[in-house]
Amino acid sequence: MKSIKNAEILCVGTELLLGDIVNTNAAFMAQRLAELGVSVYRQSVVGDNPARLKEALAESFSRADAVFMSGGLGPTCDDLTKETVAEYFGLSMYLDESVLASIRTYFADIGREMPDNNIKQAYIPEGSVVFKNEWGTAPALAVECGEKVAILLPGPPVELHPLWYERVEPYLTARSSSVILSKNLHILNMGESAVEERLRPMMQNDKNPTVAPYAKEGEVRVRVSARAATREEASALCDSAIERIRATEVGDFIYGIDVGTAENALLLSLRERGMTLAVAESCTGGLIAKRFTDIAGCSDVFLGGCVTYSNEAKMALLGVKAETLAAHGAVSKETAAEMARGVRLALGADVGLATTGIAGPGGGTPEKPVGTVFVAISTAEGEKVKKLSMSPLRSRAYIRQSSGTQAIGLGLGFCGDLSSEG
Ligand code: ATP
Ligand code: MG
Repeated sequence: MKSIKNAEILCVGTELLLGDIVNTNAAFMAQRLAELGVSVYRQSVVGDNPARLKEALAESFSRADAVFMSGGLGPTCDDLTKETVAEYFGLSMYLDESVLASIRTYFADIGREMPDNNIKQAYIPEGSVVFKNEWGTAPALAVECGEKVAILLPGPPVELHPLWYERVEPYLTARSSSVILSKNLHILNMGESAVEERLRPMMQNDKNPTVAPYAKEGEVRVRVSARAATREEASALCDSAIERIRATEVGDFIYGIDVGTAENALLLSLRERGMTLAVAESCTGGLIAKRFTDIAGCSDVFLGGCVTYSNEAKMALLGVKAETLAAHGAVSKETAAEMARGVRLALGADVGLATTGIAGPGGGTPEKPVGTVFVAISTAEGEKVKKLSMSPLRSRAYIRQSSGTQAIGLGLGFCGDLSSEG
């Protein structure tokens, strides 16, 4: 069998069509396939209806050699994916004794008798590669027919994800004569279109590695992907492209490579310096603290924080002065600086970060419209404040998330991981 270069995704389930469940399997498979260098041409959804499923299969196979499917492998009579694929390819089914035995073992392990209708799950289209399912009953399958292959996976994500990583990816890479490797550059303070403009020559001319920017939760990522015979060669190809990206204006705004998130990058940087962090949050309401505490083992760096939404809380917990609030307001450069300094001193941290702003949708004024946010950092060197003016049309969730990222960005600037301009 030749390696798979292009594919379609076809998810089966009436629940999906009705919008009762969100098609996370399609997103998952699309991301994983992109990672493996397989181009996905189209995604479709059909209900539990064999005639329409057959139609969809015919369409997908008219464009692609591989179709990745999820759902409809269960034991009930409305689960028809496997039967329909067999019929579409004109393959007969046989009872696979070893699959039946593992389904029986699965039920024995959970202390239940196997219902008779689970026998249905042990019928396999001839010539299929069977992927043992230790996370449920239905095995996943690669049904191969000539140059075409349908990959069938069970619907529940708790089964699909491990089956994918443990069985499907090894199957796909074994068929492939090359490896694909991607590296992600993390960029703050430069918009997606500005990044794209600087990198356009590389994006248009470079075929290996490919260079592609995309926006991600208030920041920008650039994904560099290379295909080569070995991981080492692919990695070296990526590195040479990254060098060229660093030499452009974009270079100043890169704060890490494959660091996961901005908070993770800051945590690592502070840890390396043996420094600690505290946060004072108004408009982000604890979101920054959540982002740090999502990282297991952060307590050596992240000491804690205060959610200070009212003026009283800002004064009582952070020592923000009444005069500052009266003269400049809660959403101001001055208040942000006092908040950052206040929380740093209160918790004895090396670095204090603060946010105060108007996340909307109400509460804006002509001088301080929705989207006006001040983020601040306080260190032994003093305070630094950055004013953000986001579009008032942005959602409250976006404004809050971005404010957090921008505050973290000040920390990265302090650590020298990011240009402090911008
Ligand atoms: P089962 O043996 O559980 O019946 P199945 O392979 O027949 O598995 P479905 O019956 O189609 O799969 O779906 C079972 C459950 O899996 C759904 O109720 C839903 O929770 C989840 N699921 C199915 N398809 C998807 C999808 N595309 N994205 C996310 N979740 C899904
Ligand atoms: Mg089912």
